[in-house]
Formats: sequence, structure tokens, C-alpha cells
Amino acid sequence: MVEVLIGKVSGERIRRDLFYLSKDPLPFRKANYTRSGQTKSTLEETDDYIRAQLEEAGCGFRETRHQVQAFRCDETKPLHHWYSKPAPDDPWYDVANIEAVIEGSERPDEIVQLISHKDSMSWIDSPGARDNCVGLVANLEMARLLAGAGLKRTVRILFCNEEHRPWTSRKAAEAGAAAGDEIVAVLNVDSLDGKSDEDTAGGKLTHVVAYSTDEGKALAEQVAWCAKRYGIDLEPKVVFKEKVNDDDGMYINSGFRRTVMNVGSFPYEDAEYHLVGDVPERVNLENVVRSAQVVLAAAVEISQDV
Ligand SMILES: [Zn+2]
Repeated sequence: MVEVLIGKVSGERIRRDLFYLSKDPLPFRKANYTRSGQTKSTLEETDDYIRAQLEEAGCGFRETRHQVQAFRCDETKPLHHWYSKPAPDDPWYDVANIEAVIEGSERPDEIVQLISHKDSMSWIDSPGARDNCVGLVANLEMARLLAGAGLKRTVRILFCNEEHRPWTSRKAAEAGAAAGDEIVAVLNVDSLDGKSDEDTAGGKLTHVVAYSTDEGKALAEQVAWCAKRYGIDLEPKVVFKEKVNDDDGMYINSGFRRTVMNVGSFPYEDAEYHLVGDVPERVNLENVVRSAQVVLAAAVEISQDV
């Protein structure tokens, strides 16, 4: 089953989604940016695109609404970290968490959780192609392939917001904890292919699985091993991430400790990280395809292993 599904990952669909959501027609995915002639923000337009793609794939989903603010921009801070706290009186925006739910046939109460933040930087006009349009489109492709695949455990795929404040992954993780959800693994997909200019120029295909807990370490090794097991040609790395942060950290903080982040490099080495130069033309699509295959393989293995 794993081989069949990973063989269906489409570079063409990934490319189409990536350019649609980070170039044309949507230059950004921000609650505080609306294209001229449009009534919805580019983040709401992104949500419409995700919903339409999930519907077309016959993939069920659910939604929650949250209030967020845009970060302010402070150019006196270090280059990649210009975001600064919004003021209390700054505008609030109503944004969505969209979560694809692919019900398991044998153990529907046991959940494999995939995550990707779908928004781009609220404090700067960056397309956020690697951060994190690639994760969004990789997860969208996985939703298409997993819907109707007949998985034993349930797979949930959360599309959340992490470049506005507060992060909405935290709400989803806390709701899961409050509901007593049995989440057996959490796979955050954030900034696949993001790497140094040198590695980009050299055509290096990278995939880092970062963990912050003992339980996450075993999961990280399983994910990385999938590359070899299924003949996916890239060199995965397993690394320890000391800081419990990012969207994966929100799940760890809510008690879901079997959690990892999939990323292109760690520490993150993209020279255009959080800058206007994070454009889709810099993305190595083959890397995104193969990284998506690695994560998909792991998600299917975990969902089928009973
Ligand atoms: Zn970011």
C-alpha cells in the first residue's frame, strides 16, 4: 500500500498548487492583505482553495475559527526575525483552522496527526514559498491520496496559522487534549526543501526530521528510515531540537509527545527565511515531492501498523 500511494505523489499538482498559492494569483497568504478588486483576504482565498481541493478529492474536513492579529515589523531586530508583538489596539482578524479528517476503518479513535501552517508572514510581503507553502501543498497532496485509501487508523491533516499571533495550532492541540484524543503520532510539515544557497545550487535533496522528546526520537528514526525502506532517493537526517516550539511544539506542550517536525534543514539555513525573496522559483520541486513521499510513507505505515 505504501509503495502504491507514494508512487502517486504528483510533482505537477504540487507545482500548480505552489505557484497558485505563492505567486499567481495569490502573492501572499495573509489575513491583513487583500488583492485589489477582491473582498476576501489572501488568507481567506487560500482557505477557499484548500476547501475546493479537499472537496474535489472527496476528503472530509472540519473547521474552527480563531481571532488573530498581524505581527508588527521591527527592522532593528536581526534580519530573519523582524516580527514583533502587535499592539492591543491593532486589528483582529477572524481566521480558520481547516482540518482534513480521513476516518480509519479499524481503529478510528487512534489518530495520526499531520500539520502544516498555511499562512505567510503577516509582518512582511513575502510569498513564503518554502515557509510554508511547500508544507501546505505537500499535505494537500497527501490528503488527496489518503482520502479513500482505506486506512486502519484515522489520519487528520491540520492547516493552521503560525505567522500571525497567536498561533492557531495551539488551539487545535489544546482541543485535542481536552477531548482526550488518542494521537499516536504528530508529523509537522514545515519548510521542506528550505536549505542553504550552497545546497540549493548543488541540487542537494535534503530532509531533516527533528525531535524534542524521547518518544519523538523513535518516531523521527522511523520517518527517516522510510526513505531507505521505500527507495526514496534523498538523504534524511535525524536531529535533536532543543526548543519546544513551532507547530509541533504546540502538540508536545499539550501532552502529545510522539511528535516530530519535517524540515529542509536544521538549524534552518535558507538565506531568504522570512524575507521577500522566499519565492516559489527557488523551490526544488523534486525535493518537495520526495520529502512528501517520506512523510506519506511514515503516515501510512503508522496508520496500518496494528
Ligand atoms: Zn516562519
